[in-house]
Amino acid sequence: MNAPSRHLVPLKPAPFADRACPKCGQPNPRVLDVAFPGIHILGEYQCSSCGYRFYHDLPIGFAVDYDLAIGVDDGVLHNPKQVRDWVHGPLMQGFRAPSDAEVRIERRVLRSCKRVLLLNTLDFLYGHVLLKLWNAQHYLDEHPDLGLVLLLPRSFEWLVPPGVAEVWLVDQKLGQAHGWYRSIDRQVKSFLTDFDEVWLGRGYAHPDKSGIDIERYTGVKPFEIERFDSEPPHITIVLREDRLWYRTSLHKEKHRIMRRLGLKRMADAYFKWDQQRMALRAFRLVREAIPACTASVVGLGDPSPMPTGVEDLRTSAMNPETERLWCRAYARSQIVVGVHGSNMLLPTALAGGCIEILPNDRLGNLAQDVAHRRRDAMLLFLYRFLDEFAGPAHVARHAISMLHDFELFHRNNIVNPPQHERR
Ligand SMILES: [Zn+2]
Repeated sequence: MNAPSRHLVPLKPAPFADRACPKCGQPNPRVLDVAFPGIHILGEYQCSSCGYRFYHDLPIGFAVDYDLAIGVDDGVLHNPKQVRDWVHGPLMQGFRAPSDAEVRIERRVLRSCKRVLLLNTLDFLYGHVLLKLWNAQHYLDEHPDLGLVLLLPRSFEWLVPPGVAEVWLVDQKLGQAHGWYRSIDRQVKSFLTDFDEVWLGRGYAHPDKSGIDIERYTGVKPFEIERFDSEPPHITIVLREDRLWYRTSLHKEKHRIMRRLGLKRMADAYFKWDQQRMALRAFRLVREAIPACTASVVGLGDPSPMPTGVEDLRTSAMNPETERLWCRAYARSQIVVGVHGSNMLLPTALAGGCIEILPNDRLGNLAQDVAHRRRDAMLLFLYRFLDEFAGPAHVARHAISMLHDFELFHRNNIVNPPQHERR
């Protein structure tokens, strides 16, 4: 089958077979089967020359670049691309000890189709699932003749965009998504028998985030950037409790040592409290300069008493109502502030801009967590990345400048000069 686009991978009637035998290099192997153990989708092939049987990742998700092969009979990992162990470790572990745990998949047929496009969003990390899911928009818009089928963890059901043909909801905690689940394989294969033609969406782990129409996923209209200056000033602070904002490198080191000494509970409580203190100090400084400014605090954790002008929306019990409540807070924010991580994806997709604390060991992951909404000069103005140990005054300076200087920067760069056509 000739793919109608390079972003699709053929599955049915003829699965993708552009692979070579990992043992002798012979191309065009015979396709024996396709396996759906969870995060990965693998072709099962047999070499037409030496007869070697092997699984090889189909090029979807992280396997677009990081594909691996495994010998079916000898269990040997073939990793010529030197894919890192965070990819092959869990896969090999799952392959060696497949799980017979029954993972329930609820199949919801919203629109009956015979020709479909399956997007597998399963992953063990929240941000990875979300990023894979954000590929849905491309497939809905570019391939309206194919029914889009989402293979999705149930906790993401609230983000299913309109127009999807089927949703296959997987009842599994993300942390358990690693592994080779025979029950997922069996159920997906039985669902697939209903279709005449199936393509796989590549489901890139890094989709073009600037074009994401977040309202289609969340039902919440994002902050209108053109109204940055005229809307009441509001900031949302995302406080993550599992990756903290530290005052200094010494504080970070102290926390690490205290945990090692068995003082985890006390240390966690202290440094969470200190993080909140820094966030509120930054907000107080902004409010001194811009008295009308208000703030929301979100994050997984317990709410605590807040100063005037701040609402605390933190909770440990997430549900779709809370998700949307947080989304509405982002969507009325000129700026979201937070530490780098997948916790910044939805906030940045909905807010006007961001100030992100970027830990030194995450420099290589720069902006992977930021759904920047501009491709023009405003991108430089609206998305700020600060040092790991930037203090409250530093954060506040940026926030105040963004709120004060938006009009001038926008006029100079966007309103006045003619904009070149983008390629
Ligand atoms: Zn061979």
